[in-house]
Amino acid sequence: MNGLENIIDAACIVTDSNGMAPYLTDWRGRYQGIAQAVVKPRTIEEVAAVMRWASSTGTPVVPQGGNTGLSGGATPDRSGRAIVLSLERMNRIRAIDPVGNTLVAEAGCILAHVQEAAVEAGRLFPVSLGSEGSCQIGGIVATNAGGINVIRYGMTRDLVLGLEYVTAAGVIVPGPRRLRKDNAGFDLRHLLVGSEGSLAILTAAAFRIVIPPPARVSALCGITDPTSALSLLSHLREVGSDAITSFELMCDGEMTLIRERLPEIAQPLSGRYPWYVFVELGGSVQEPLEDLMSDALSQAIDSGIVQDAILAQSVAQAQAIWHVRFAVSEANRLAGFSVSHDVSVATADLPAFLAAISDRLPRIFSGARPLFVGHVGDGNMHVILHFRHDGPKSRLERDALALRVNDAVYDIVGEFRGSISAEHGIGRSGLAVFSKTANPEELRLMQGIKQVFDPAHILNPGAVVDPPRTRD
Ligand SMILES: Cc1cc2nc3c(=O)[nH]c(=O)nc-3n(C[C@H](O)[C@H](O)[C@H](O)COP(=O)(O)OP(=O)(O)OC[C@H]3O[C@@H](n4cnc5c(N)ncnc54)[C@H](O)[C@@H]3O)c2cc1C
Repeated sequence: MNGLENIIDAACIVTDSNGMAPYLTDWRGRYQGIAQAVVKPRTIEEVAAVMRWASSTGTPVVPQGGNTGLSGGATPDRSGRAIVLSLERMNRIRAIDPVGNTLVAEAGCILAHVQEAAVEAGRLFPVSLGSEGSCQIGGIVATNAGGINVIRYGMTRDLVLGLEYVTAAGVIVPGPRRLRKDNAGFDLRHLLVGSEGSLAILTAAAFRIVIPPPARVSALCGITDPTSALSLLSHLREVGSDAITSFELMCDGEMTLIRERLPEIAQPLSGRYPWYVFVELGGSVQEPLEDLMSDALSQAIDSGIVQDAILAQSVAQAQAIWHVRFAVSEANRLAGFSVSHDVSVATADLPAFLAAISDRLPRIFSGARPLFVGHVGDGNMHVILHFRHDGPKSRLERDALALRVNDAVYDIVGEFRGSISAEHGIGRSGLAVFSKTANPEELRLMQGIKQVFDPAHILNPGAVVDPPRTRD
């Protein structure tokens, strides 16, 4: 181990293959890597010592949180040179300040635990994702995670007030500060949010938390097409101003996969519709909020925007609705071979974008059907090309097919001037296409930033940005 055992307690180093296995493959089992060791520091000083060692030995370091990322960014490559740096032992919630409405948590805290701690203090930690029982604070900051509440509270970036981190050279930048206003110099915080382990090791973050809306009401609607979803969104915005906390769209193909693969999940709507909208409103008093949702949905049904809707009458019914939405990744994982994309376009362009995908992809890839689910209020859709058969047999063939699917999807994204990564990040899976499609000047600037933070290129090499090309 090139002296690593001399600088950190042996109890923090895992080298046996069984102990390392869960850290060397991602949640979906799509990426598999090899590492010298998995290192699990307990303090920021230990993180710094590991980084000084890595920098002096030129050892690549792959930071890892809950390992739920969907872009392969937390999995080492297959060279066997890297170490995985798991932050899971740094899992203390350091402070909750209900006066300043701030919360400070270490990188290894599981998101659901942070949400619970905020609730106990009478506050809401607004980031909410299907993976919240496993993903960690370091991971959600490093990927600038989105989720179902972005429409009301923004992405993780919008909540981060300050960061504590360790540089590639092993220097501690203490913190995190909880300042709401700080215009002193460049805001490095926003470079590190979304940097996917390629610029620094995040060890703690301070967040803005909010007063939770005391009243919430959820509904599931059956609709005919994505245009109706946007009409409903617009209608709800007009009658409910800023009450919308979540507004999600799913196609019937995806709902059918959930019915087939996870039959234990109750289906709140008995009928079947081409598309479904999941909506939550949040406000200060329950009854008027329920009236608002109920009146809005009745009007939407009368005007033909909505075909049918169920309004949750209890917390349990609301949970049942959102349980269906959160089952998507698991259903897709069980359903066999598919190629997924996390893309965004301007919200108003979504119907035309989805129509272009539905029209063109099945003509290029016979036996495949596009499925859609996503955060329609944010213009962010997960486009999943699902192959009814098991897809190609070998990994090589699958990878080649995935590349062709990516090209086809990203061509259409390009036509709509959209983004190839709305919320999952670039990681390893998106590096080639990002390098090809990014604005060349912006890419050059990003490579320069990478060079400044990580001159020896030891932080998550192969993820997000390649180092600048040197001239011969
Ligand atoms: C069921 C399911 C649902 C999901 N839903 C959503 C969703 O709605 N919205 C969304 O945005 N994402 C979603 N995701 C993706 C994923 O959960 C998020 O990207 C999450 O933020 C990753 O957190 P993690 O702790 O698991 O990070 P990991 O997967 O461990 O790491 C992700 C990236 O962050 C880096 N990293 C991790 N910790 C640190 C650190 N301390 N310092 C520096 N870099 C670090 C890693 O190197 C890697 O590049 C979903 C995933 C699943 C499995």
